[in-house]
Amino acid sequence: MNNLEFRFGNPLSFSFDIKHADSNSLARVGTINTPHGPIQTPAFIPVGTKATVKSVLPEAMADLGAQALLSNAYHLYLQPGSDILDEAGGLGEFMNWPGPTFTDSGGFQVLSLGVGFKKVLAMDSQTFRRDDVIAGNKDRLAHVDDEGVTFKSHLDGSMHRFTPEVSMQVQHQIGADIMFAFDECTTLHNTRPYQELAMDRTYAWAIRCLDEHKRLTDERATKPYQALFGVIQGAQYEDLRKKAATELGSLQSSGQSFDGFGIGGALDKGQLGKIVSWVNEILPDNKPRHLLGIGAPEDLFVGVENGCDTFDCVLASRIARTSAVYTMEGRFNLSNSRFKRDFTPIDDECDCYTCTHYTRAYMHHVFRGKEIVSATLATIHNERFIVRLVDQMRQALLDGNFADLKEQFLGRYLHRSGQARD
Ligand SMILES: [Zn+2]
Repeated sequence: MNNLEFRFGNPLSFSFDIKHADSNSLARVGTINTPHGPIQTPAFIPVGTKATVKSVLPEAMADLGAQALLSNAYHLYLQPGSDILDEAGGLGEFMNWPGPTFTDSGGFQVLSLGVGFKKVLAMDSQTFRRDDVIAGNKDRLAHVDDEGVTFKSHLDGSMHRFTPEVSMQVQHQIGADIMFAFDECTTLHNTRPYQELAMDRTYAWAIRCLDEHKRLTDERATKPYQALFGVIQGAQYEDLRKKAATELGSLQSSGQSFDGFGIGGALDKGQLGKIVSWVNEILPDNKPRHLLGIGAPEDLFVGVENGCDTFDCVLASRIARTSAVYTMEGRFNLSNSRFKRDFTPIDDECDCYTCTHYTRAYMHHVFRGKEIVSATLATIHNERFIVRLVDQMRQALLDGNFADLKEQFLGRYLHRSGQARD
């Protein structure tokens, strides 16, 4: 492809075509075109945090219908280093994945996983003064200021600093087709004044991301164009979410606007549909919208019907490694002794490699024996289950029976897994 096309934002290098818009909801069916191929939407994007979907080969991810993979800029920056991925020819080349790739900005990990606040919150959220999670405490491992975030590596304790410019430089070196702007990710525990402060910062950082993105795109004109998505914050507050969608949706800087949008930050699951619809009713229709970190079956229906095009979540692979599997009849654990002599597939309606070759009894055996293959086989099943479910939603939208699919699926799925939901 002619690289000049990328430099001038030729739609051949990155574009979004809407094929069908649902008349009863905000849902739509489309195609995101990237330099590494198309993504038919709505689509679930499996997560390979450190340039690998844990325990599964990229060939198997392609076989199970994954159209793209999402990796994490924070982890790849720390190890092996984004310069290594640049030298390798970019993320896809490095990990032997020929299709489209995404990276998240690193903001979420810097502010949560990397500094352990998620664990602390889960253990002890009641004892925090609310904004201590991010601000104020000298013992914390990440410090946010108006310029960026200083943090301590979770690997070796070394100190690092991410600014919007650094995040763009790291993500350009990693070379994913779709990147996200660096944002300040808050939690539901933050106070309203702090959410406002963080949103103002995220807006200022969005401008700096667009400027640095433009500079890097020009400087690296021989590389395939990388699209940049802005991230909509605002937690559970309607006015903040709408303000963010309005401001970032129309933002232009250095002659560039965002190629798409991520909906991120603190998402109260009970209000997911409302929050997403506030935002998607405002965001430009002609750009793709990614719902960050959401992937439980019931949430995917809510996301799709409220106008999200792509989704990512580590849940499918993470729970697989603990023997938890999704089925049409709900979620259960294969290590449960009731499966010891169950010679049926995990899900007899599933067409994945695992379900067409192995039984629940075998899966029970390899999980009980802590065999490595247990993770591989269960991950293949779970990823296929979620990828296929969103594929079915896409088809149902085209066929005009999305509501029927939702009712039928959730009627069965939630009936059995009522206590095991995420
Ligand atoms: Zn299966």
